[in-house]
Amino acid sequence: MNAIPAPHLASEQPAISAAVARFVQRPPRLLINGEWVAPHGDARIPVFDPASERQIAEIANADAHDVDRAVRAARAAFESGPWPQMLPAEREVLIWRLAELLERNAAELAELESLDNGKPIAMARMIDIPGAIQHLRYMAGWASKIEGATVQTSLRAAPGTKFHAYTVREPVGVVAQIIPWNFPLLMAALKLAPVLATGCTSVLKPAEQTPLTALRLGELIIEAGFPPGVVNILTGLGETTGAALVAHPDVDKIAFTGSTEVGKLINIAATPSLKRVSLELGGKSPVIVLPDVDPSTVAAGAAQAVFFNSGQVCVAGSRLFIQRKVFDKVIEGVSEASRSIVVGPGLDERTQMGPLVSEEQRDRVMAYLQSGRAQGATIAAGGEAPQRKGYFVNPTVVVDVNPDMKIVREEIFGPVVVAQRFDELDEVAKWANDTPYGLAASVWSNDLRAVQRLVPKIKAGTVWVNCHAMIDVALPFGGYKQSGFGREQGRAGIELYTELKSVCMAV
Ligand code: ADP
Repeated sequence: MNAIPAPHLASEQPAISAAVARFVQRPPRLLINGEWVAPHGDARIPVFDPASERQIAEIANADAHDVDRAVRAARAAFESGPWPQMLPAEREVLIWRLAELLERNAAELAELESLDNGKPIAMARMIDIPGAIQHLRYMAGWASKIEGATVQTSLRAAPGTKFHAYTVREPVGVVAQIIPWNFPLLMAALKLAPVLATGCTSVLKPAEQTPLTALRLGELIIEAGFPPGVVNILTGLGETTGAALVAHPDVDKIAFTGSTEVGKLINIAATPSLKRVSLELGGKSPVIVLPDVDPSTVAAGAAQAVFFNSGQVCVAGSRLFIQRKVFDKVIEGVSEASRSIVVGPGLDERTQMGPLVSEEQRDRVMAYLQSGRAQGATIAAGGEAPQRKGYFVNPTVVVDVNPDMKIVREEIFGPVVVAQRFDELDEVAKWANDTPYGLAASVWSNDLRAVQRLVPKIKAGTVWVNCHAMIDVALPFGGYKQSGFGREQGRAGIELYTELKSVCMAV
């Protein structure tokens, strides 16, 4: 966060390129069985630029009929035709080809993402698009490295025979993949990469707020040469398209990233047919600052931990626990950092923080701030939605909070951090865990003993030390408690899309 003197850019969203302008004007369509098809019904959803509040596109709200078509296409592609015949090395080549196409179109994808989601274009270029490419390349490598094991059993064989036993990992089948709006293309690639590596097929539903890069990805999937039906892309609302997809009897697995509330609904909907489910849900991740740190270094890290992507990150470091000795200095540093962040439209190169994704999200965040004030919290920095077009909320630091306040307990998904003092390690471990969530946490200290005492106590799927949100495709990622179950990324991410078959032969 460098110091640009005008933190709030009043500028309009800059003009979009001809390529993006052409793309957003396309009529609503769905990718089913390798072709762009018209939706069955007439229901449409407007897509807005969150920086200007202008409608930029219109997408289909796919209905149960469209869902059924897409699932049938995914089933047919999974069971027969070229996809199941393909060698792992051939799948690997196709995935690499897709990654290359993303790379070749990176500038356009970054622009589209920034326009649709609101995030700074510089960030889309640096994180979202390269991240999507990295997921594809990493998982491409796994396609040819999926292994089982030979197993020494203790079964007694009949005279003259013996048992030969082994395990084999098979693709789980047709997967419904439902993703959120905070990292639209990155989430699509993260979800599709293991599907393609393992030989599954997918019906992917992007979030209705941010469907554009997923649709562009669909074009690149066709261009890469994947067989028809391997990836199908349906746009639509969660409660219609999403719910129909989850309920479809021929879906084998659901992979969902989104809110804990919807994750629970999906888990219930999947129960009658016991579909496999993996859920990557919400968080209220603690950032724990021990007294030995340099306050200014940690303040910069803590600000980044919560304000990155306007705080619309499942691992956002939204609860800051600072040891009493350094509390004031760290809060001063985080507040200063928050005031120096350049807030503006995503396509403006100078912007460091864009608007929130939607009006609804902006209003939700403002309602949380209101409730915090009403319950006695103090706003140390930020706290306002600037009076201008766009769904902006200024980066906000809240102090004088207590553990019962809504802003401390619930996921805000916006640029808001609540800060609390602590004295002892045991106390902070207890407070950090006093949440239904368990996605991530960070500990800031160079006191090795203290860090080693704290890390095992934290109930979270990821713990960072002296950093935050360092998510790598090789590191398994997922939640404890109500942050979900299943681990994506790494070997675990491949296993998530396979069934394990044991074979025992009397030979
Ligand atoms: P957020 O509250 O951050 O928008 P959601 O969990 O509502 O997150 O949305 C994440 C994804 O889940 C989106 O693609 C959305 O359309 C989808 N979704 C929402 N409700 C349902 C539902 N009942 N069934 C299936 N998918 C849903």
